[in-house]
Amino acid sequence: MSHRTLQIKLPTNFSDEDVRQAIRKQLGSEDFSFQIEKKSLDARKKNNIYWQLSLIVSLGQLYDKAYAAPEPLEIFYKKRKEKVIVTGSGPAGFFIAHVLQLAGYHVTILERGSKVEERSKAINRLGSKGEFSAQNNYAFGEGGAGTFSDGKLTSRSKHISAERRFILSEYVKAGAPEEILYMAHPHVGTDNLKVVVANLRKQFLENGGLFLFDTKLEDIKVKGKRVNKIVCNTGEIEADHVVLATGNSAYDTYRMLINRGVQFGTKNFAIGHRIEHTQKLINMAQWGRESLPGVKAAEYRLTTKTRSGLPVYTFCMCPGGQVVPAAAYEQKSVVNGMSYYMRDGIFSNAGCVAGVHPDVLLGHKCTSIEILDWMDKLEEGYYAFSDSLVLPAIRAYDYMKMKESKKIDRSSYLLGLQPAPLYDMIPEMVRKAIIEGLEDFSRKLKGFDLGVLMGLESKTSSPLQVAREKYGKCTGFDNLYFVGEGSGYAGGIISSAADGVRCAIALSSK
Ligand SMILES: Cc1cc2nc3c(=O)[nH]c(=O)nc-3n(C[C@H](O)[C@H](O)[C@H](O)COP(=O)(O)OP(=O)(O)OC[C@H]3O[C@@H](n4cnc5c(N)ncnc54)[C@H](O)[C@@H]3O)c2cc1C
Repeated sequence: MSHRTLQIKLPTNFSDEDVRQAIRKQLGSEDFSFQIEKKSLDARKKNNIYWQLSLIVSLGQLYDKAYAAPEPLEIFYKKRKEKVIVTGSGPAGFFIAHVLQLAGYHVTILERGSKVEERSKAINRLGSKGEFSAQNNYAFGEGGAGTFSDGKLTSRSKHISAERRFILSEYVKAGAPEEILYMAHPHVGTDNLKVVVANLRKQFLENGGLFLFDTKLEDIKVKGKRVNKIVCNTGEIEADHVVLATGNSAYDTYRMLINRGVQFGTKNFAIGHRIEHTQKLINMAQWGRESLPGVKAAEYRLTTKTRSGLPVYTFCMCPGGQVVPAAAYEQKSVVNGMSYYMRDGIFSNAGCVAGVHPDVLLGHKCTSIEILDWMDKLEEGYYAFSDSLVLPAIRAYDYMKMKESKKIDRSSYLLGLQPAPLYDMIPEMVRKAIIEGLEDFSRKLKGFDLGVLMGLESKTSSPLQVAREKYGKCTGFDNLYFVGEGSGYAGGIISSAADGVRCAIALSSK
């Protein structure tokens, strides 16, 4: 069988027949089958926007899947007696549990929140009535922070291509659209993610795993270098290995671990606000027109280096998405963004943040507890502004002039906006950097300054990093591991899941 890789350019609203015709033209043959290897939008020239496709074409016979299938991940299976407890069912927790299960371990997942179906109801009550649940919210509950999200599956982490392929193909088997395997900017949307999370759980249970919902890890009992037992709200549990995959929002868990001698340092992270525009404005700026057949909604990613040295960048852009209240705890206010697969909402939003080190922010070498306390206060301040989840907000051009906006029109944020001096609600160095960033972004993307800045974006990544060794093992412990975003070694759905996969493979082959 003969295979060829072809690169073709197609109009944005191309059909299957257009692909076939382009192949026929290049090969001069009618007898072929093909598979898309990569699909990316080239929008550098507004008058010539096209899809660039990389195709694997099989000549003469049906497409040989075996040829296209990437190298499988090597998971070393053997019958094992050891029991593993994984705390947290986000991307990192689920994928470390899944791979350890495939490697022959008996795995239990603990999750402080409920099943995704119950969690969805709590999220709906939050959006419609402002009712906050400490157990099930945008941060906590089955599937972790990544579930009610934009579901962008991009990752800038290098050296995780095998893990990424594995994760994406597991998502597709669980109901995600097949296109995520080849899109340059894969995106699932929260509607698909909810289905994927439920299907992954079913498969994990069918394979003999145990899932304990509404079960919160509250303490660990340490003897020498081993965690003997874990203490949950439901009682004590023993295990041979204890994995933490508790994410970047579980400050109560961080505090407990610090008290129990788990070593953490501080690291760079980012804070700022969320900015919202109409999607039409973004489409006009990026494509020169309000819509483009065959493409859902325009994206952007902007970065700038400011005079102070703090980088300012847009983060987690959600085309056609919605701004959501993402705090994990009562009487705190944090924002984030999500979208549905169709990305057909009338707004777009993105984090607009400055990267900073906790020591710089606090003005002295600070401890892990100090930065957690500082963040808690900041998030409480945003809540206290309206004594509710109504968000303080300001037009970007007013923020740049440091003057309050009089009126803020519609927004995708369901719980309401209140004009506020947002520039005074963030440390001065961050505000100065963000103003410089906004000036630069307004030059780069026409109309950026017409956006509305709102709330506090503080969970882009963790300000802490655990001291850990091979396979995610916490320094000073023999059987305690920390993976995913909360560990400080990953950020985002794919990189957190990949951290889980890598640690599981290393642990099971030792
Ligand atoms: C609204 C929103 C939108 C986002 N959009 C995107 C996106 O489009 N693309 C992207 O790549 N990333 C996105 N992110 C970030 C992404 O969700 C995280 O990077 C990722 O989920 C981190 O995975 P994780 O498994 O390490 O932790 P998490 O997903 O945070 O999971 C941690 C889990 O641990 C549980 N838990 C915590 N403490 C305990 C405890 N003590 N006991 C028991 N269980 C506990 C929590 O309930 C949670 O389920 C978004 C985040 C949010 C909040």
